[in-house]
Amino acid sequence: MTHSTAIYDVLVVGAGPVGLTAAHELTRYGLSVRLIDAADGPAATSRALGIHARTLETYDQMGVLDDMLAAARKVEHLTLFQKGTRLVQFDTDYRHLPTCHPYSVMIDQTQTERVLRDAAARQGVLVEWGTKLLDFTDDGTGITAVLTRADGGTESFRAAWLLGADGGHSTVRQRLGLRLHGDQTETWLIADAAVRCDLSPDSIYWMRTREGAVMMVPFPEAGKWRLVDTRDVDYDRDASRDEALAARFARKIRAGTGKPVSVDAPSWVSVFTIQQRLVPAMRSGRCFVAGDAAHVHSPASGQGLNTGIQEACNLAWKLANVQQGRADARLLDSYDAERVPVGAELLRSTRRTTALVQVRGAAAAAGLRTLFTVVRNIKPLKSRIERKIMGGTSALGLSYAAGPLAAASDPTLAVAAGERVARVTAAQRTASAGWRALLAELREPGWSLLAFAAGGDAPALRRLAEEYAGTVRVRTVPAPGARGEDAVVPGPLPDPGGLLASGLAARPGHWLLIRPDGYLAASGRLDAADPVAASASLGLRSRSRDLTGPQAAGS
Ligand SMILES: Cc1cc2nc3c(=O)[nH]c(=O)nc-3n(C[C@H](O)[C@H](O)[C@H](O)COP(=O)(O)OP(=O)(O)OC[C@H]3O[C@@H](n4cnc5c(N)ncnc54)[C@H](O)[C@@H]3O)c2cc1C
Repeated sequence: MTHSTAIYDVLVVGAGPVGLTAAHELTRYGLSVRLIDAADGPAATSRALGIHARTLETYDQMGVLDDMLAAARKVEHLTLFQKGTRLVQFDTDYRHLPTCHPYSVMIDQTQTERVLRDAAARQGVLVEWGTKLLDFTDDGTGITAVLTRADGGTESFRAAWLLGADGGHSTVRQRLGLRLHGDQTETWLIADAAVRCDLSPDSIYWMRTREGAVMMVPFPEAGKWRLVDTRDVDYDRDASRDEALAARFARKIRAGTGKPVSVDAPSWVSVFTIQQRLVPAMRSGRCFVAGDAAHVHSPASGQGLNTGIQEACNLAWKLANVQQGRADARLLDSYDAERVPVGAELLRSTRRTTALVQVRGAAAAAGLRTLFTVVRNIKPLKSRIERKIMGGTSALGLSYAAGPLAAASDPTLAVAAGERVARVTAAQRTASAGWRALLAELREPGWSLLAFAAGGDAPALRRLAEEYAGTVRVRTVPAPGARGEDAVVPGPLPDPGGLLASGLAARPGHWLLIRPDGYLAASGRLDAADPVAASASLGLRSRSRDLTGPQAAGS
């Protein structure tokens, strides 16, 4: 066995979407990362397709949004059919969740991973394929991992922290003794195939037939669809069965939509039993798990990859702050305190969606036509359902208000502690230099203190800029009518039309302390609440505190 002498900050195990995101973000925040994957090379099967609004906002912060959108198709409807009749078409309604990306996109997971791999490579992290984590120990000051390499050799490797992004069968999770709690539910069959039918690819389709429910999800490529059968799941691969499967889907889609259809033999088929499981904790000492390593659930509302990316981003800045001595180690406790409840809610919502997708039982089915006739004709009811669907799927409404990092906030502001700050539409962004400047600010790694100057000197802001230099950037929106030298204390962020201030309901003297992932940590008014004290209460370390360098252990 070789013993590597290089000590990296983080060993990331698994180069799926979650490990790639984590590697990208950790290096963007300045840590050194080694990224390994047991597979010989990138996965060739598509799996995840649906990417939702909050993930698109995150991609924007990461700087990969344009590359993702170039490989994606927008989807803005959910259309339901029953036995040849269209029941209802739900549209996207994001009025209560303002975002620059009011839609979901379909992008093949292989493409998502390609874009993330390229982005990680630009950060200097290349995936080491054929390198498998066998075992590891955590001695409180770092981890020592045993790896097998593509050349057949075994290596002992040392890093300060370990992240298991190694999927549903996670070695890291198993070695940590973290058990996945939950159960397994239905078995579904999924097939990717070319379909010729008069159905617009800007919608997901659900249809109920006498032979059970079927779903159709469009791929970015014209004519290619993901087909899901929730009842007939027998499959044994050979060419004649592929033809039979295609014919069965064609029969069901025809019966469901009432439209002529032809389906080619599928390019990929998978039969899987839905697992609904979650770990009780996502951290143990210097080790963490994220993504499918921490939770597995139904693909019914397309959430697994989206959730894993949010986890990777939630953890990366915390780990960087602690490793770089910018924050107390207790900041790391907030990772699973914030994310385990999200995973638990995910299990509840995907369980509900799975049940809805397959609508079993004659009584429930008989009521559908009546129900959706009512829904179609009562607009406020339809809007309510659309908002409910958007709220759950998009993750835009997710709040960390109940978590340990939601400090005191000023109730007169439009955003509360724990909520995402940039709740802005594309039209508002176009109209407002202030919002554009804030969005650009959120793309920079680190904390931001957005202050609305009241005119005159603001010693608390100067003190914050000095004490937390390198950790918190102070960005000051000039007081209305202020000019020249008088206009700003550190870091001007002009808001000429005042639309940023009005969007946040901010008045002169207000400040907002924004986490690196764009959520509000604390807020107040300079005459009533001290942003320096708020930063300290969150565990951020000021320059005048006795910095002893990177934190020891997860103490
Ligand atoms: C049919 C289907 C449809 C889906 N649709 C959606 C959707 O629309 N939207 C959505 O958000 N999610 C969807 N998902 C879920 C999504 O695919 C997963 O949540 C996502 O792949 C999880 O990413 P990950 O990086 O956590 O794990 P994975 O993608 O499983 O990656 C784990 C990696 O770790 C590597 N690895 C494992 N063990 C080791 C080891 N010991 N050493 C080194 N490397 C190791 C593996 O080789 C692998 O590359 C779907 C899933 C399926 C099956």
